[in-house]
Amino acid sequence: MRVQERTRELQESEERFRSAFDNAVNGMALISPDGRLLKVNRALCEILGYSEQELREDLSLDEVCHPDDLERHLNARHQILAGEIYQIQIEKRYLHKHGDIVWVICSASLVRDTQGEPLYLVMQIQDITERRAIDKMKNEFISLVSHELRTPLSSIRGSLGLLAAGVLDNEPKAAKQMLEIAASESERLVRLVNDILDLERLEANKISLNQQWCDTANLIQQAMDILRPLAEENNITISLLPSRVQIWVDRDRIIQTLVNLLSNAIKFSPAETVVTISVQDQADRVLFKVKDQGRGIPADKLENIFGRFQQVDVSDSRQKGGTGLGLAICRKIVQQHGGRIWAESILGKGSTFYFTLPIPLE
Ligand code: ADP
Repeated sequence: MRVQERTRELQESEERFRSAFDNAVNGMALISPDGRLLKVNRALCEILGYSEQELREDLSLDEVCHPDDLERHLNARHQILAGEIYQIQIEKRYLHKHGDIVWVICSASLVRDTQGEPLYLVMQIQDITERRAIDKMKNEFISLVSHELRTPLSSIRGSLGLLAAGVLDNEPKAAKQMLEIAASESERLVRLVNDILDLERLEANKISLNQQWCDTANLIQQAMDILRPLAEENNITISLLPSRVQIWVDRDRIIQTLVNLLSNAIKFSPAETVVTISVQDQADRVLFKVKDQGRGIPADKLENIFGRFQQVDVSDSRQKGGTGLGLAICRKIVQQHGGRIWAESILGKGSTFYFTLPIPLE
């Protein structure tokens, strides 16, 4: 009776272990001291793309290890088996069945028999591919932002440095010019920081839309009022084709989008040309069109310019006072409304920026 009870307890405990092993969120494996896979769970099969049978019968973990990490992988196993270390955790790459690289954190510890001889290694494998991709993107963004902020800052430091050193003490005209550079670059710095924060909040979906019914003609008129001084300064006429559609949008955000597209159209057009803005009611959506007669955009840059800090010409945002973030912000705003934004252009003849916004049924 007692033996039967003990056997049942053992069976239950084994069953619990098997279920925990099979259903673990992370990959798990039992590995023989010579590197054969004795047991693998479902998560590991998913991480590597192989079936349990393929992993246990045809492959070893050494074979799916990335060649550049193999030496480290073998050393780690050797150290554990030799008793030099009790447990190990390393970050390394495996190769998925389809050839993609899978980044993992691998933890391994050794189980010995009652005589102290190595029985098998218990290994836990956590897929960190996505986390690494996000970290990489964040680091790239930080270095891009630092670079963009450094440019106006060094300009400001340069001009103020000259003034502080007294080099221009007897040249009031040149000194004033230096002060003007410092002032306009400080303004650009403020715009840059504001745009970076705005884009970051939009991308993290921290901004909720304050939607209401708006009249397209009214929104466009407001954007045109904001841009009147810039248009006059550049001697550009803005022409609005008559049309009125009711749309369900965040008023300020759509005005911000229109101001951005119109100001680009003005900035990148020669004097005495026309920028045309029109709206088309397409039943389930409305299509906005901002068309200029400016220098145009090369075909291979038409998509690219919607990325952060992407310009057709490296000097564009500096010379025109922009931040290189305007179109990235427009795209986020339009996407958040459920619409689409894109550009078409003929080099030397002009560009047209389009965006759609859905019209709700009721
Ligand atoms: P910014 O205008 O601040 O540089 P944007 O993201 O608004 O940043 O625009 C990115 C780039 O796309 C501009 O620097 C310019 O090279 C190009 N671009 C945008 N709109 C136009 C346009 N209407 N005509 C020609 N080039 C344009």
